[in-house]
Amino acid sequence: MRSVPRTLIAAVLAVVIGASASGQAPTADWDMAAKIREEGLQRSQVMDIVGYMTDVLGGRLSLSEDMKRAQLWAKDKMEKLGLENVVIEPFMDYGAAWDNEYFSLHMLEPDYLPLVGFPIAYTSGTKGKVVAPAVIAADIQTKKDLERYRGKLKGLVVLGTPPFTLDMAALTQGVSRLTPDDLRLMEEAVLPRPQRTPTVPPPPNPDLVKAEERMAFFKAEGAVAVLQCESGMLGAVRGFSRPGANEDKWSREKTLATLPIIAVIPEHYNRMYRVLKRGIPVKVEVEVRNRVGDKIEKASNVLGEIPGTDLADQVVMLGAHYDSWHEASGASDTAAGCAVALEAARILKAIGAKPRRTIRVAFWAGEEQGLHGSREYVNAHFGNPKDPKIGVKPDYEKFSVYFNQDYGAGQFRGIYLQGNEHVRRLFAAWMEPFKDFGFTALSIQSVGSTDHVSFDAAGLPGFQFIQDRIGGTAGHTNLDFYDTLRAEDLMKNAVIEAFFAYQAAMADQRIPRKQLNPL
Ligand SMILES: [Zn+2]
Repeated sequence: MRSVPRTLIAAVLAVVIGASASGQAPTADWDMAAKIREEGLQRSQVMDIVGYMTDVLGGRLSLSEDMKRAQLWAKDKMEKLGLENVVIEPFMDYGAAWDNEYFSLHMLEPDYLPLVGFPIAYTSGTKGKVVAPAVIAADIQTKKDLERYRGKLKGLVVLGTPPFTLDMAALTQGVSRLTPDDLRLMEEAVLPRPQRTPTVPPPPNPDLVKAEERMAFFKAEGAVAVLQCESGMLGAVRGFSRPGANEDKWSREKTLATLPIIAVIPEHYNRMYRVLKRGIPVKVEVEVRNRVGDKIEKASNVLGEIPGTDLADQVVMLGAHYDSWHEASGASDTAAGCAVALEAARILKAIGAKPRRTIRVAFWAGEEQGLHGSREYVNAHFGNPKDPKIGVKPDYEKFSVYFNQDYGAGQFRGIYLQGNEHVRRLFAAWMEPFKDFGFTALSIQSVGSTDHVSFDAAGLPGFQFIQDRIGGTAGHTNLDFYDTLRAEDLMKNAVIEAFFAYQAAMADQRIPRKQLNPL
């Protein structure tokens, strides 16, 4: 176990002991809950905010011109809503900006069909409009498999993946809200995480061909584009970053060195695949124009504050990631989460709340490529006692809590305690005014895959709400539009976030922290 600074241990203990020694049951400020409910349910602006983000601004790929435009709008909107200290804050060298500017794809033979698909992020474009026969090369696993295609792909459009069987069960079942049984199972979980027996990874097989090696082979062989299918949902494409992009940091050279890679919806992709399997030629026409920036740029988060009063140097945060994939407007993933956080701040401003601690709203970037925006922010502002290279910053002790929405756009039904038993009574009390929303569940479970993890990983309280899985099924697909959002759900979420932020900002003490897990 690496050593943790003594002052830090003392501080953590003081908070934990302080909370339990007080002995007083925590209470909710019902008068404030009434004001927040009235403003947030009867004069909500959340759909107007999320509507602008999704309909006017659209997809917000990290470090794209689209994202930069959306961030300027967010800064302006935060300022118009009365937030202070609004900043677009760069956090790391991210790569060359990438935007898709034009795309068309058609099957010309044996039958005309406009094809639905999307260029994969951080890939190159075609040289103008290209008409080319299609060929299947979907069974390449090993280096030996490559030999079967050597010399046979020049000037062709490659179907690079096997056909995808549609998940008809998912199509017919639809999505439903969490049932009382679903919530009970979460509440009854005793441990933060299910115990798993560690699996030993198989030894690396040098014969296997990585996805990026396969793409490099297609390029070297003179193919003109690669079509692929990675979704089992009718009408949907998934899989939005070129293979290897995360490792090479979205470099301009690597982006331009790839072929155009295009994800096609399964019913269109599978049709071409079956026709080719009959030995009947398929001819396609494709044109892709992508704009690739000419220099490495920094990605940025957008932040704004309601300054506190007597405890203004301490901070309560709420937010979500603003970045999305580019093929839809990232409505549930997660313009909705950003709109909810901003609406929560708007509600507090509108009712004249004077929080003791500063309430800071964050629109993260780089989440979809690995929580980069929130992690770098935590490292820069608060530090991480588990990482000696980063260390603990003075503001580590000034931080109270972070609340996140990113499990779709469904209503909050409770909150995951992230293994922190010390907040159970506090959160239970704050949930009371919203029982009629069906906001009732406290689960000790630790959940991942989004920005509260960046705080939790540094020993700081960060929480994600339990959400109905409505709308969220569209995340990471071309179907993630405004239409999947439900106004009432987002209005209720904003009300809850406003109240949790307010209570945390007014509490006598910071949100208690769990003990730092051994390294
Ligand atoms: Zn997300």
